[in-house]
Order: sequence, then structure tokens, then C-alpha cells
Amino acid sequence: MGKRLYRGRFAPSPTGPLHAGSLVAALASWLDARAHGGQWLLRIEDVDLPRCVPGAADTIVAQLSACGLQPDEPPVYQSQRGALYQAALDQLISAGLAYPCSCTRQDIALALASAGHAKERHGELIYPGTCRQDLNGKPARAWRFSTSKYAQNSPVAQSIRLQSAIDSAADSEPSELVWHDRRLGAQAQDVSREVGDFVLRRADGLWAYQLAVVVDDAAQGITDIVRGEDLADNTARQILLQRALGLPTPRYLHTPLVLGANGEKLSKQNGARALDLSDPLAALNQAAAVLGLAPQPKPLPDALANWVAQWAAKVT
Ligand code: GLU
Repeated sequence: MGKRLYRGRFAPSPTGPLHAGSLVAALASWLDARAHGGQWLLRIEDVDLPRCVPGAADTIVAQLSACGLQPDEPPVYQSQRGALYQAALDQLISAGLAYPCSCTRQDIALALASAGHAKERHGELIYPGTCRQDLNGKPARAWRFSTSKYAQNSPVAQSIRLQSAIDSAADSEPSELVWHDRRLGAQAQDVSREVGDFVLRRADGLWAYQLAVVVDDAAQGITDIVRGEDLADNTARQILLQRALGLPTPRYLHTPLVLGANGEKLSKQNGARALDLSDPLAALNQAAAVLGLAPQPKPLPDALANWVAQWAAKVT
């Protein structure tokens, strides 16, 4: 059997240094790439600049390097890739698959309340499609407008949302998007009903994670996404976007999370400390244990090679 091309990536948001939880995703994505004889890339997801911490990206690069996890290409920075995201957005708008929305959070809450349901999901209101339905009664797909108009001609700040219903026929039942995770198995989500038309570009002009991640994974030729399980819930939205843009869907593997003292995903807010670089192997051993791999003694290169062999023996 010929070896298929494998390109994986680790895509941290530089909101702080790597901690025990983020190292699990970094190690798993690196191991999966190495076990497949593939390439492993690093993408700094600094698209939400106000949340980024100055210097954190450099710290992450140094932490990975201290752990022996070297990317095969120079890291890319999402903050420098706005033109790619704009091109994708223009494509969606001219295909009638995305539309501007000037609803505030309060508008959305009022619309939901007057419809008799205050839908919420993970503390987020489920967008009821107000601006999509307001397009002279026509579904967004039937609505074409010049891409130069949507930003300048609007008196109020507008976000751009993806039309998330799977079927183009306006009256057809919304349906579930089914996808496969290599660890979690079959997954399904009705994005239109459970999430609603989601934001691609925020009203403040910032690119949304969903658009940036889909555009970059395709532009970088990523075949396999290995990341923390907290992101699994985004996958259906990302596959919808891939389909809308005519892009391939990678394979997905979501890794177990490290939990903080409060039982929630480990984060700076619940006590995650930056990795201790004085002993990278100890940090890697902790991450490897979360992935079900056997502990390894020194030296670091041998430990990594042994974990690659263990991982390779498990993967399909
Ligand atoms: N930047 C995202 C995060 O740090 C990860 C994106 C991804 O792996 O798809 O949570």
C-alpha cells in the first residue's frame, strides 16, 4: 500500500504559554504526523489580537522546541493572512451563502424571546436567522449583492454569517451533518438548529476562528487534524464551511482533555501553569500518560522515538 501524503498541524492561540493541557494536543499531533511519516506544521492563531498576549507566540515556539517538537516549516501567523480570509468570505457572499447581520446580542435575545424560546447553547444564544429571513423574504441563497457594498454602505456595524442550513430548499427539514472522529467515533450535529447561522467576520472587523481555521487548514494542505476534545464541537461547523468553499475535509482526531481542579478543561483561569522547561521530559511524560502511552526514561530523543513507535502500533 502506498503511503498517502500526511500533513498535520498544531494551532495554538497565543493567549499565554503552553501548559499541561495544550502540550497533550501538541504531542498527539506531532506523534500522529511522525507515525504516518508525515509533516507537522505550527500555526499561530493570533487572529483575535485583543486576546493575544505579547511574546506568547515566541514562548510557545521555544517551549515546543525544548520538548523536541520541531515544525517542518516556519510557523505561519493568522494575523498576516487576512487577504486569504477576505477572498474566502467574498466567495461565500457572491455564492449567496453568507450574509451581513447587524443584530446586537440584545436584538438576538429579543427575537428569541418573542418567538417564545430563549435558546442557549454553552451560554451562547442560538442565532434565529433574523437577517437571513429579512432579505425581502428570500432565503440568503437567492440574494446576491456586490461584495464592495456590505462593509461601506452600512450605517451600523455588521457581522457576516454563514447560511448554515444544509439544504438549499427553504422549506426542507434541516438535517444533521455526520462526521467521524478517530477516537470518539461517529458524531452528528444539526448546525442550523443547534448553533444557527454562525459568524465568519465579526462586527468589529475581526475574523472568526471558524473561517480562519478552515481557510488555513486547506491553504496549508492539512490532511489530518489532531486537537483537544474541547474543539470537537466546532467540527460540524468547519465541515459545513469546507463544503461551502469547495474544500476537502481532513480526518479528525480529538484528544482527551486535562482537567483543572474545578473539573473543567485546564486553562489559565483554573490554575494551569506554564510548562516547566527545566525538565521537558517530565512534562512530556505527563502528556504521554493522558494519551495512554507508557512512561519513558531519558534521553529525550529516545523517549520521543519510543512514543512514535507506540503511537504507530495503535493507529489505523
Ligand atoms: N487555536 C485553537 C485553540 O488554541 C485551536 C484550533 C484548532 O486546533 O483547530 O484553541
